[in-house]
Amino acid sequence: MSVDHSSEQSPSTAENIFDVLIVGAGISGIGAAYHLQDQTPGTSFLVLETLDDFGGTWLTHTYPGIRSDSDLYTFGYRFKPWVGAPIASAEEILNYMGEVIDENDLDKHIRYQHHIDSANWCSTHKQWTLKGHRKDTGESVTFISNFLWMCQGYYEHAKGYTPEWPGMDKFEGEIIHPQTWPKDLDYKNKKVIVIGSGATAATLVPAIAADCEHVTVLQRSPTYFIPGRNENEMADQLRRLEIDETWIHEIVRRQILFDQAEFTRLAIEEPEFAKTELLNGVREYLGPDYDIDKHFTPRYRPWRQRIAFVPDGDIFKGITSGAASMVTDEIESFTKEGILLKSGDLLKADIIMTATGFNLSVLGGIEFSVDDKQVDFADTVTYRGMMFTGVPNMVWIFGYFRASWTLRVDIIADFVCRLLTHMKSNDVSSVEAALRPEDMDMPKLPWMDPENFNPGYLMRSMHLMPKRGDKPEWQHTQDYWLEKDELPKIDLKDSVFVYK
Ligand SMILES: Cc1cc2nc3c(=O)[nH]c(=O)nc-3n(C[C@H](O)[C@H](O)[C@H](O)COP(=O)(O)OP(=O)(O)OC[C@H]3O[C@@H](n4cnc5c(N)ncnc54)[C@H](O)[C@@H]3O)c2cc1C
Repeated sequence: MSVDHSSEQSPSTAENIFDVLIVGAGISGIGAAYHLQDQTPGTSFLVLETLDDFGGTWLTHTYPGIRSDSDLYTFGYRFKPWVGAPIASAEEILNYMGEVIDENDLDKHIRYQHHIDSANWCSTHKQWTLKGHRKDTGESVTFISNFLWMCQGYYEHAKGYTPEWPGMDKFEGEIIHPQTWPKDLDYKNKKVIVIGSGATAATLVPAIAADCEHVTVLQRSPTYFIPGRNENEMADQLRRLEIDETWIHEIVRRQILFDQAEFTRLAIEEPEFAKTELLNGVREYLGPDYDIDKHFTPRYRPWRQRIAFVPDGDIFKGITSGAASMVTDEIESFTKEGILLKSGDLLKADIIMTATGFNLSVLGGIEFSVDDKQVDFADTVTYRGMMFTGVPNMVWIFGYFRASWTLRVDIIADFVCRLLTHMKSNDVSSVEAALRPEDMDMPKLPWMDPENFNPGYLMRSMHLMPKRGDKPEWQHTQDYWLEKDELPKIDLKDSVFVYK
């Protein structure tokens, strides 16, 4: 693998030509950079990031209480021990990522304030040309690479998803989406409605409830939660025994992943039992008289959507203290004073917070083309949720939702580094995952089976996503436990990989 420095595709200087370009300096992009440096020494690479700092999700989300909903032993990278409590604040996650950057001298490989607008693959030169602009100066920028590693996340960072409800313009208070939280928002002693009951609401509500006059969580339908203490007994015990943190990290990860695998199996094989277990956990906090059926018993089977961990049951404590309350109903319309419900009740509010989710973004909103012909990713088929037919030398990290996202960063990185090494030793410059003759009649199905996983943002935008086939290699299984064994065994000589 080598980059043709004589490309006439666009102005190029030695400074803007790399073996690999990574788009995004979130947890995926920083992980990708670490692994490239560690596993493919000598590979030149650059991380391009639109923001003025690293962190992605953990930098852009600034609402009160922002924290992870999965444990950091598995949300952390496998190569960098996590030494804090399992559930971490955005600040703690940013500090952890900062340490990874410092300890591995990655900063020199990152260009901040570089927004990428387009990416074109040239089959003649076997190169990607990325064009974009600097956010600070507006100056146009061009970068060239042989390989493109997309770590741009999966949702629009600039704006969250807020449904259109009748009468929204009539409401005299403020309407806020947590993704774009105003720094100076004053919610003290205010009546607040939070619409939605997913992970964001579960984080936000306990963080603001004590300061507000009252917080009403308005949900159309309930969500599953796993309440528990924000500590890991095994990690604490091993620390008392002065075991090395590297060992603790590995042992605790294995224990958590083992327990999660057991729970996933239970949720699939005995969904009613798994459901009862989850609801019992909530009942412990809310007591026997609380209407769990109405407010905390979802209509879907456990595990069809991510289950948020609630550290120390904090949202439930907010409810029992009277600072917060749940309303399960549908919105008829917004009014001057608040929200009129289909039941006829009126909820009064000074501020309405719409914790209603994301807008999915397919590959960072970047205009992709191959030999100047625009790529519509909905026309492509995904190879294991990371490569796409018709798009050479490109991998996208789309992590796990049932397990921690980052587990997939590490194992996709192993695959990419192995692939790059294989290409180099075979003196080939391009690889494409292509349908084999036996795959031609395969049905082209939506990216994700809604029976398997069906969060709203994915359902709304599934038509924009690449297709999946009905064979394991043409699907993004969302199954860490399968992929951790299968990905390292992928035969790079398989005819699915077309090298040139
Ligand atoms: C509030 C919240 C909590 C979450 N909690 C968890 C959790 O506990 N556990 C879990 O597993 N997952 C969680 N997730 C999912 C989470 O998004 C991922 O786990 C993970 O942080 C995604 O990392 P990423 O680096 O792939 O993407 P992002 O964090 O989205 O980072 C992508 C980066 O790419 C940059 N970028 C995008 N487009 C361009 C472009 N065109 N040009 C240049 N740069 C670009 C962005 O600016 C951004 O910095 C959570 C998500 C949210 C929103």
